[in-house]
Amino acid sequence: MKSNWQNHPIPQNLTRLKEQIEGICRKCHRNSDEIRLIAITKTHTRETIRLAYDAGIRDFGENRVQELTAKTGQLPEDICWHMVGRIQTNKIRDLVPGVSWIHSISGEKYLREVEKRAAVAGRHLNVLIQINISGENQKSGCEPGRLHELLEYARNLEHVSVRGLMGMAEFTDDRDRIRSQFRLLRQIRDRHSKLEYGPVNLKELSMGMSGDFDLAIKEGATMIRLGSVIFGERSG
Ligand SMILES: *Cc1c(COP(=O)(O)O)cnc(C)c1O
Repeated sequence: MKSNWQNHPIPQNLTRLKEQIEGICRKCHRNSDEIRLIAITKTHTRETIRLAYDAGIRDFGENRVQELTAKTGQLPEDICWHMVGRIQTNKIRDLVPGVSWIHSISGEKYLREVEKRAAVAGRHLNVLIQINISGENQKSGCEPGRLHELLEYARNLEHVSVRGLMGMAEFTDDRDRIRSQFRLLRQIRDRHSKLEYGPVNLKELSMGMSGDFDLAIKEGATMIRLGSVIFGERSG
């Protein structure tokens, strides 16, 4: 098994994906070093994740707290874990010890709880504010008009650094629509970057999944969250 791991689809997918990202960056005059690839491993086993790790990936993400905490202890310690799914305040205590980034902060109560739990655990966490860019109710996220207030709150935190914004485009085949939602996220970021929120900085833009990461890169993504293009379609 180990000797011919390069022939496995996962390392091959990653090689192809990196070439694709290079190509997209060349077209829009960006440097691919600015883009952090986060492998989203929900539903996949430790053995599968290990193949991506052996191919050089160090950023991994999950969308459920229980699944994430079960996996962190079983995989190498130099992995940087990202929580990308909807969170509940009562799960934050379990989440904090194993995770480095939370992409899905949508309100003050979550920031308050992460701050409290990170202080207790003696940790420092990086977070992104998820913005509702699709306008759909079922997509969680902070409404753009409430971001200012949230960043004002975030400037006084000691164990949490807000590092940028996250967004999910609408589930649609209309690529122009998807792209305009990514553009909106960048514009919201640019607008708020001009204001002063102390230590808060909004450099990171986490946007783009397997079906739309090309558009996200063109609109300025610095973190792309990819599952199925690396690991294949999920059965669940
Ligand atoms: C599952 C998931 C992804 C990755 O989705 P793919 O389409 O498989 O690339 C990205 N972001 C979030 C929040 C997810 O839940």
